[in-house]
Parts: sequence; C-alpha cells; structure tokens
Amino acid sequence: MELETLPEKKATEVGSYFVANYPPFSIWSPEHKPAILAALDRPPKPDTKLGLYLHIPFCRKRCKFCYFRVYTDKNASEIEVYLSALSKEIDLYAGRQGFENRQFEFVYFGGGTPSYLSNAQLERLIERINQRWTWSAAKEVTFECEPGTLKESKLQTIKKIGVTRLSLGVEHFDDEVLSINGRAHKSPEITRAYQWAREVGFPQINIDLIAGMLGETEDKWKYAVAKAIELDPDSVTIYQMEVPFNTGIAKDAREHGGVSAVASWAQKRAWVDYAFNEFQKSGYVVSSGYTLVKPERHAGFVYRDSLWHGADLIGTGVASFGHFQGVHYQNVDRWEDYIERLNAGELPIHRALPVEPHQLLIREMILQLKTGKIDAGYFRQKFGADILKEFSEAFDSLVEEGFAEIDGQQVRMTRQGILRVDSLLPRFFEPQFRNIRYT
Ligand code: SF4
Repeated sequence: MELETLPEKKATEVGSYFVANYPPFSIWSPEHKPAILAALDRPPKPDTKLGLYLHIPFCRKRCKFCYFRVYTDKNASEIEVYLSALSKEIDLYAGRQGFENRQFEFVYFGGGTPSYLSNAQLERLIERINQRWTWSAAKEVTFECEPGTLKESKLQTIKKIGVTRLSLGVEHFDDEVLSINGRAHKSPEITRAYQWAREVGFPQINIDLIAGMLGETEDKWKYAVAKAIELDPDSVTIYQMEVPFNTGIAKDAREHGGVSAVASWAQKRAWVDYAFNEFQKSGYVVSSGYTLVKPERHAGFVYRDSLWHGADLIGTGVASFGHFQGVHYQNVDRWEDYIERLNAGELPIHRALPVEPHQLLIREMILQLKTGKIDAGYFRQKFGADILKEFSEAFDSLVEEGFAEIDGQQVRMTRQGILRVDSLLPRFFEPQFRNIRYT
C-alpha cells in the first residue's frame, strides 16, 4: 500500500515550525528581568501546580537536527562543575516567597542527554538537591535517555532517584538513517536498553520517533513504526522533522539555496498519519499531535498537561526556559556565564517577559489545541472569556478548511488538523506576533 500524500507539496525550509510557547521567544528581553525576580517573591496563588525542569546539556554526539544548547566535549571535571552549579541554582530558589508551602507536582530531566551522567554523578547531584528540595510528592518524574548510554546498573540508579517515566530517544530503528542524522546510538542498543528498562520496572516507558529524518523512505518508516509497536511502550511521541536555524541540516540547506534535504511537510504528515493508524490498530489512542498512549496502562502526561494548563515551571540549567506566576524567563545560554553567575550566588536568568492575562489565555488555548480538543467552558471558568466568540474568525477558518469541528463548547481537531496543528496556531496570535520570527 502506498501512503497517500496531499496535493500540497511545501518543502521543509529552514525555520521553526513547532509552537512551544506564547508570546514568541524572540520578544523576551533582558530588560524584563526585574519582573521575574519580583514574581519569585510574590506569595503563590492557591492551587497553581509547580514543576522543576533540569537541563543536562551533555551528549555523546551532536545530531544534525539538534538546536538545543548541548556540549559533546566536556570532561568529568567540567561536568562536575556544571552539576555543582545546577544544584546551587535549584538551592537559590528555595526560601523565596513564591515557593512557600509548595511541593513539586512534576520533575523533568531533559537535555541534552540526562542519561549521559554516570551513576556517581547522578547520585551526587540528587544528594545535593535533596538537602533543600525533594520530589517525594511528585506525580511524575521523567528522565530522557539516549539508548546507547544505558546500562542496567544506570537504569537502577535512575529508578532509585524516583523516576517514574523513562523517555527513550529512539528516533528511528534503521542504522543508516540514525547514522546519516548523526545519532550516537544504533538499533541493537535500543532493544537492549528497552529490555533492561522493562526489567528494572519503570512504571511508564515512552519512546520518541521522528518522521522525515534525512534518508527516510516509505519502507524504512513503515519498518520503524512496526518495530516501535513491537516494543509495546506505554506511550509514543512522534515528531515531524523540522529544520530550526542553528542546526547542521540548516547549515547544509543554506549552502543549497535554503531548502533542506528533509521530506516535504505533506510527506511527513502522511507518514505520521500512517503511524497513528498503525498504533491505533494496536490499541493506542491519539493524545496529541505528537503522542499516542496505551489507555489502560498510561498514567497521563503530568508535565505536559500541567504546563498547558498554566503551571509554574522552574527551568534550571544553561539556556533553560521557565514560567513563574505569569512571567516567562530564560537562563543565560553560555556555559561561562552560567557557571560565573552561580559562583557569584546569583540566579542565572538572562531574559524574561511578563505575560498579560489575555496572552495567558491565548497561550493555554493554543497549547491545549495541540491535544486535539479544547473545552470552551474551561476558558470561561478560568479567564471569564468566551473563546468561541472572541476568536470566532480563527475557529471558523479551521472549520471551513476541514481542520476542526465544533460541537457546543467542544472544539475537536480533525485528523488533518491535528497532523499540522502547529502551523494552524499563529492565526490565534495577536496581530503584532503573527509574522515575526518565533525563536
Ligand atoms: S541527543 Fe538530543 S539533545 Fe543530544 S544532540 Fe541529539 S537531539 Fe540534541
């Protein structure tokens, strides 16, 4: 069976497609730093959930599609310096008024590659953090892993520090595709790591795939989907490959007139559509434009759903993003600055943006649309706004184009809508943010 492609053949050009936040990052600025410092000292609003993100910026190799702040050349003593700075940073948040009587609802170790850390580095980091903070009350502790960095003993350490959800960055099962895209692992390491993770007994295991990696073909994609289903994870995340500005693929594209070697958007959507159908046949249900879950075994995405419903998030580590009491912020993105600021006993915050109440509404609305459904009643209750009326032009256009259906207070994205959901979100942006650079 050949996968159906849509008539629209838009090439994958350099730029950001994925909408992770609102307003766009490009307008966050150092001049707003006082706003985040003030927010940290405001008494917390009751019932606002709190999360912690820890950025572990080390990888064995830099993938050609990666746009994160990561380092592939740091030795053990430099890693020690970083981990010490990271624990100091987390420590600096303790005692500020905005954290009074609050516990972490969720914790996320992201990267980079958190599993790059050795058992000893990981244990020391947690021991330092635990002097001021614990996550014993957290509903979910997620840890991202690169399969080739795992050993059974490391997985035991990861489990011991309280991780409930392991996220395996598989991306593909074809060794040639993995190699062309600069991934450090090969397929045998995936199977081995997955089996160990099951044996160690993590409550939740997620695997990540990417549709449209360099060298992707229809047969290879079908093989990757079949292998992923065979592993039987509790959830799967499937991204469509994009080409943000500071990636190896973008650099190659610039040398070839701006168009990358990545498959067209229509092709990638067809591949994800195929994957969704295959996973659904195996009992999974679509939980967003990028995720499917086994409903009887899946415990929910606490990190995602809390953030998309307005939780506070302390983003720690170099270049990390956070949100606290209505203010977005990001840390300094240079290693030297990050270490220096923490050595001086200061929070390493670089830029911020106080978000207007109406923008907080837009933010939640577009993020929740990524799950494929929103309830207008939620926005009436939380923001006192009738979103179907206020954003009627944008919602009507989605319906007219066949990307959404509205039934009373419920908006549901169609399959064609959810497959391209990020490209549909800018129509909900305020006019001044519609045509500016996003990152
Ligand atoms: S493993 Fe992840 S964070 Fe590291 S270079 Fe590859 S994509 Fe980037």
